[in-house]
Amino acid sequence: AERPYIVGNWKMNGTRAMLSEARAIDRAAQRYMKAEVAVAPPYTLIHAVHREAEQIGVGAQDCFPGDDGAHTGDISATMIADAGAKFVILGHSERRADHRETADQINAKIQSALDAGLRIILCCGETLPTREKGEAEKFVLDQLRASLPQIEDAAERLTVAYEPVWAIGTGKTATPADIEAMHRAIRRLLDETYGEEHSAQVRILYGGSVKPENAREILSLPEVGGALVGGASLSAESFLGIVVAA
Ligand code: 13P
Repeated sequence: AERPYIVGNWKMNGTRAMLSEARAIDRAAQRYMKAEVAVAPPYTLIHAVHREAEQIGVGAQDCFPGDDGAHTGDISATMIADAGAKFVILGHSERRADHRETADQINAKIQSALDAGLRIILCCGETLPTREKGEAEKFVLDQLRASLPQIEDAAERLTVAYEPVWAIGTGKTATPADIEAMHRAIRRLLDETYGEEHSAQVRILYGGSVKPENAREILSLPEVGGALVGGASLSAESFLGIVVAA
């Protein structure tokens, strides 16, 4: 199997003072090669983190759904790639909620990102009421069906992140059995969409209150190919605690 992929999503956190954390993460990642490590800082720090990083990957948390042009305040996939990003997180639940992002918009972003040569981390996840109704799996698979790029060779640049909305920033995590079941269901959908050989190139990350204390258990589950980490990625110490658990 591929190396586990541990990605820090800094969300709307980080000024230049955070560059020392990025440097510490990068130095440790150079010594510890068992995991593939990446961070997605805010746009304002992408280039600076890229310049610090010799080992870790750098990505963005979103991009504009289209080409460069007259869109005041927006940032295109081309610009992100030019700043040094190698990937972009798309469809995060905070963007779906805060900016009412629709599947159509997410699809346009995916296309723009692929055109710019970026890799994609596509997020999915259900809310608590949906889980309590017993509809989590159907909801997540529908979300993915609406946005998985329908070209075989997109699989090699795709990562899926399953992030139950109710587990994000709450200290709650899904149970190991629920995570395993969801990841297996996602894998079946990827197999159907891309064929098993291409599907095997797509890692499925878990996200939602991953911490050094729970990382080992979560990362050892079948079909969990890594973690997308929010809060605990903001200090090198806690983030590296997750990296070494992988
Ligand atoms: P937390 O790790 O803070 O729960 O955030 C998870 C997340 O949303 C990562 O994208």
